[in-house]
Amino acid sequence: PRQDAEDFDVIVVGGGPAGATVAAAVALRGHRVLLLERQTFPRYQIGESLLPSTVHGVCRILGVADEVAAAGFQRKRGGTFRWGRSRDAWHFDFALSPRLADPTSFAFQVERSKFDAILLRNARRVGVDVREGCRVGGVVADDERVHGVRWTDPGGDSREARARYVVDASGNGSRIHTHVGGGRTYSDFFRNIAVFGYFAGGKRLPSPDDGNIFCAAFEEGWLWYIPLRDDLTSVGAVVSRSNATAIQRDPAATWRRLIDACPEVKGLLSGVPQATETPYDQVRVRRDWSYWKSTLWRPGMVLIGDAACFVDPVLSSGVHLATYGALLAARSINSSIAGLDETRCFDEFEARYRHEYGLFYSFVISFYDTQQDERSYFWKARKVTDVGSTDLEAFVELVGGLASGDTSITGPGWASEQLEAFSADIDAAVGRLADSDGLRNPLFESPTVRRVFQEGTVLQERGIFGCPLEDEEPVRPGGLVASEDGLEWIDSGR
Ligand code: FAD
Repeated sequence: PRQDAEDFDVIVVGGGPAGATVAAAVALRGHRVLLLERQTFPRYQIGESLLPSTVHGVCRILGVADEVAAAGFQRKRGGTFRWGRSRDAWHFDFALSPRLADPTSFAFQVERSKFDAILLRNARRVGVDVREGCRVGGVVADDERVHGVRWTDPGGDSREARARYVVDASGNGSRIHTHVGGGRTYSDFFRNIAVFGYFAGGKRLPSPDDGNIFCAAFEEGWLWYIPLRDDLTSVGAVVSRSNATAIQRDPAATWRRLIDACPEVKGLLSGVPQATETPYDQVRVRRDWSYWKSTLWRPGMVLIGDAACFVDPVLSSGVHLATYGALLAARSINSSIAGLDETRCFDEFEARYRHEYGLFYSFVISFYDTQQDERSYFWKARKVTDVGSTDLEAFVELVGGLASGDTSITGPGWASEQLEAFSADIDAAVGRLADSDGLRNPLFESPTVRRVFQEGTVLQERGIFGCPLEDEEPVRPGGLVASEDGLEWIDSGR
């Protein structure tokens, strides 16, 4: 070790939503946290449509919910989809009872540069030593554990810092995730490419859905349409990788062509100019973005957010998974420092995080399956009957074990049957929307939909009421449950 190495309880690499959340949740317990962020905030990031669990759950637990609410972000009651069997658009409301929407069944559409800066400033406020312009280049480790990181300060000098735990929250471009062992597995099903940019305005859906994200399937894939401000709309196309050459050659022209190919979105943008303000004046590209790791921790190091896993953006789950994983990691770090067995703490983190990821992952596969377009090469290749072995094995591994504790549920046969059942369930729930009385939300009558939003609901209850409305059960025999404030694990004795 270098003589001048600084010493902390925890070092967090990356100041996005995952990093800012874990850092604050550990600092709230009085521990010494260093957060190293390569860029200087505010910085651009994609991922603008949030879920209620982040806004009312995690942000409330971190003490930043009021500031987020006061920032003037667009309110979002849910999602509007032109997707599935019907040619007509339908709505997914966050509220259990859309007509009697309770005051917390909404989320926000956020300019990530502003949202992420609020979370990072909050981390600083609760005591995190946040340093921007500092790039982590590697970890300090021996055979037993990870002990710290090597980083370069804004002046270009090499530095070293040591801690009991290093958290990798450095996003999809993480260079250090390999240090926990295990590679990234990329989903075959979601090998898509996204091309996205901004318009200086755009029509809004009729009230009260004017703040919704609008996702429209078309022959070549699907488009998102996110109202960020009256004069700013985020529009992105998710299409097959066969478009990669055209996109690379001319991203902006391909983006415009794809928008023009989807009448529902094209109509909302007629006569609206492309945005010219920075950072919204560029058309950007991201590819191959659904992956997971076989291992999420080793002694002294843990992965969260996009550094750990990511699934296709159609359900707006990225920031939820990042901040949920961050909260689980913070519980494990806080409990382990307080003396609870380290392996037990981090096995709990990993089991819950993988399970939550697995639920969204299988939901999105089944959701893709419900889109019908016989002429389309893109949609014909995205049926549950076409899911390959990598994705089926992942489903068994991620969802299987915890779903029932039944070890007989293994193998690709079981997985594809489950996915087909999920898809039928979602399809039927969407079908019921047409004759809904508006008092109940038929989507939540689907066990699949309920299961996917279950943890998010518990998070929200924790944020709003200070604890879940029902006693939390351990997710497996002998498992741990969260403390009342949500910042630690406790042994439930069950
Ligand atoms: P990031 O937000 O990427 O933050 C990582 C931080 O680490 C960055 O600030 C980076 O500068 C820093 N960093 C990187 N390397 C280093 C280093 N070596 N040293 C120090 N710092 C470093 N999610 C949603 O919730 N809703 C959506 O609508 C949505 N749409 C999406 C659309 C697309 C096309 C894609 C690709 C993703 C979308 N997402 C969406 C996902 C969302 O972008 C991510 O899940 C989310 O940003 C992950 O947060 P994070 O904190 O893990 O990583």
